[in-house]
Amino acid sequence: MRWPVNEIFHSLQGEGYHAGLPAIFIRFSGCNLCCEWCDTDHHSHRMMSDDEIVEQVLQWPDTPMVVLTGGEPALQPELGELIHSIAMCREQETYVCIETNGTRPLPAYGIDWVTLSPKTGVPGGDLQPVVLTQCEELKVVYTGQDLGQYDHIAAVHRYLQPCYVDDPVQRQANIDATVQAVFDNPGWQLSLQLHRILNIK
Ligand code: SF4
Repeated sequence: MRWPVNEIFHSLQGEGYHAGLPAIFIRFSGCNLCCEWCDTDHHSHRMMSDDEIVEQVLQWPDTPMVVLTGGEPALQPELGELIHSIAMCREQETYVCIETNGTRPLPAYGIDWVTLSPKTGVPGGDLQPVVLTQCEELKVVYTGQDLGQYDHIAAVHRYLQPCYVDDPVQRQANIDATVQAVFDNPGWQLSLQLHRILNIK
């Protein structure tokens, strides 16, 4: 089995509950949505085998957290097998997180933390319906949408994140609107993109 991998890198998790913790990121290429403000480069890739991916992950033995991201990682068939391969080849315990748009079911085993980031309401983000209804962390990029649409999703943590845009005036307006939405909607918490603030990957 080979997987289309855009990049594998080591950094700090920049968003949500684990923000600030070291993590190994495996970014898969390809997404089934086409959000208008998507700034993730997930189009280029090289096909990598289990062994090649594991070899890369083994570079960072002191980091237990492995984040599967994209693109949309849940599009990859046999993802559970890859997770198993990674966990079995490392001496230390591996803590597997996945960041998903929620439009595909996830492997039944091996994932410790699900970050669900639905894109419904975003132009290009509702091409396919969200099928996941529970997660550890619900992370919503706030663009003024009705937050009631997420009430049916069972989540331990609910985060609102400002939509990042290049224009600094609009970016600040998005931050202000998101902060106000957190004030107005109890149960939601602000998430910032720490990696952008720190100017790291
Ligand atoms: S779901 Fe994420 S990766 Fe896919 S198009 Fe939207 S923002 Fe980009």
